[in-house]
Amino acid sequence: MSQTIKVAIDGPSGAGKSSIAKAASAALGYVYVDTGALYRTVALNAARKGADFKNNEQVIASLEALDVSLGFVDGAQHVYLNGEDVSDLIRTPEISMGASAVSAIPEVRKFLFGLQRDLADKNNCIMDGRDIGTVVLPDAQVKIFLTASPEIRAQRRYLQLQEKDVETTFEEVLADVKQRDYNDSHREIAPLKATEESIIIDSSELSLQETIDAVINAIKENTK
Ligand code: C5P
Repeated sequence: MSQTIKVAIDGPSGAGKSSIAKAASAALGYVYVDTGALYRTVALNAARKGADFKNNEQVIASLEALDVSLGFVDGAQHVYLNGEDVSDLIRTPEISMGASAVSAIPEVRKFLFGLQRDLADKNNCIMDGRDIGTVVLPDAQVKIFLTASPEIRAQRRYLQLQEKDVETTFEEVLADVKQRDYNDSHREIAPLKATEESIIIDSSELSLQETIDAVINAIKENTK
């Protein structure tokens, strides 16, 4: 089997990874894999089973008989919890925080590792997350670290939540962004960080299109 092209995009929440990775994958004909959706699905399942996100034993117990899978409908990723499409249900502030908590548990990361690795071994893909370049796809041909200031990221996320009629305030979203940044970069296992070979793109001063172009150029340059 010929080797697939693997592109890792890591960065903090709200940096625009998913919109940018989605657009770049469509332009290049790669499969886009949003790994945050997998952690969110584990959190949703844990909540449904009455587990406390901060209680490792309860979260680990909730993994039993759990099946998380990804499907692609018209090029868009859908995530399934035991066969149920939960793509929209996982986008709430409660599940965002839950995902950040459960993702610090080694058993949860191990549980999702094979699925991510397998997708990348079978498809040319752009995979976004926190530890893709460091842990999941250390062999990726291109590693991008996409970031922006906390205020800009909170503003973008706030607008997205407003569009979905989720009730919240900018201050709450900013506090959530900062809390998740802290959790994601200080955890012991697979903390968020750039690798030595990562191409760092700061989108604070760039438009969406400029950021997409920067990412596509970086991929083309490194896969020639
Ligand atoms: O990217 P998204 O905001 O959907 O991710 C939700 C949470 O899942 C993040 O805050 C992070 O804690 C966790 N995550 C992770 N590793 C990944 C992707 C997401 O720990 N590869």
